[in-house]
Order: sequence, then structure tokens, then C-alpha cells
Amino acid sequence: MKLVFLGPPGAGKGTQAEKICEYFGIAHISTGDMLRREMREGTELGNAAKAVIEAGGLVSDDIIIGMVKNRVNEPDCENGFLLDGFPRTIAQAEALEGITAVDMAVNIDVPAGVLVDRISGRRMCSGCGAGYHISKYTRDTCEKCGAPLYIRDDDKPETVLNRISVYNDKTQPLIDFYDNKGLLKNVDGNRTPEEVLADIKALVESI
Ligand code: AMP
Repeated sequence: MKLVFLGPPGAGKGTQAEKICEYFGIAHISTGDMLRREMREGTELGNAAKAVIEAGGLVSDDIIIGMVKNRVNEPDCENGFLLDGFPRTIAQAEALEGITAVDMAVNIDVPAGVLVDRISGRRMCSGCGAGYHISKYTRDTCEKCGAPLYIRDDDKPETVLNRISVYNDKTQPLIDFYDNKGLLKNVDGNRTPEEVLADIKALVESI
């Protein structure tokens, strides 16, 4: 089972991806999480990508495609995987076709007006990268590893607007890309996480 999640920043892709992967026993591949780990560890790639990520731009297609190509060959991807935050450009989607065939692209649709509010409540663990939202979790340390939570630099309001505009420009065209291939399913993401999850599960079960 090979899935792609589409949707603007703040649509809930990460939250839903984690639950779907656990439920179906497939690997969760978040290129954003992979890049943040590289930044935390101070690798060459992490240091090179930092400025672009913090400005809300996109890391170059070549770097990201290389990362994903290696990742999908790891043993935990044998049962399948869910790509969360990749592809983000038409060039990435075309490259993905050369790497593997996707079974379904799920577009989590959320109106632009609610995205900034949703993102401003996000908190992230500085140790393991787990994500939280202040509406559901009010502690300032991670329940999984105990490390302090922080606000992602690219979740600050001025950067969020840039990320949404980059999404509209570069990533939204992927909705048509996958629709034209008969692989697109839309989910109304402007509901409770439980309702959204139930819809996505039903779609994935229909594959
Ligand atoms: P995310 O956690 O998916 O919101 O990603 C955080 C940031 O990482 C994005 O705003 C981009 O700067 C970078 N990034 C993640 N995935 C990609 C991708 N597929 N292509 C380019 N840049 C990416």
C-alpha cells in the first residue's frame, strides 16, 4: 500500500498520517520530519536546508527526491508507506512515478482562513520531533520522551503566510495531477480529527 497525503500546511497531515500508519502497519515518511532531524543533528544537509525551511520556502527537488528514493528502500517500507509532505512540486511527483507506483493520493481539504489559527497552536518536541496542539495538550514537555516543546520557526505567523503562498503556487497543482490519473480522493479536513480519520480509513480500506 503506497499512499500520498496532500493538503496545505496545517491541514492535519502529520496527525492523520501517524494514526493511519499505525493502523495499517505501514511506514510514515515525512520529509519535513526527516529535514528537522537533520537540522537537530547539525548534519551538512540539515545546515544547508535550515535557512530555506525557516523562511518557509522549499528545499531543492534534487535533495528531497534523493532522500525519498533512499528512504522507500528501507526494510520498514516493505508493507507499504505513506508519504506526508512529499511530493510538493510537479517535478517531485514526476520523479516519484519513476521510483514507485502510488495507489492513492488523499487530499485533506481545509479552508485557507483556518490554517493560520491552527498552525499557531502547534508545538513540537525538541527531542523526538513529536507534534502537539495546545488545544489538546497543555504541558510544555513531551509525553513520549520528556524533552521540552518548542514552536517551529516556520510556524511563526509571518512565515506561515509564505508557506501557504508557496503551497498555492507549487503544491496545489498536484491535486489536478493526481486527479487526472484517477488516484485522487478528497477528504473534508475541517472537522474533528476523529471524523477525518474515519473517512481516510474507509478510503484506504477500499483500495
Ligand atoms: P512540513 O513539516 O512538511 O511542513 O515541512 C517543513 C518544511 O520542510 C517545508 O516548509 C519545506 O521547507 C521543507 N520540506 C518538507 N518537505 C519538502 C518537500 N517535499 N520539498 C521541498 N521542501 C520540503
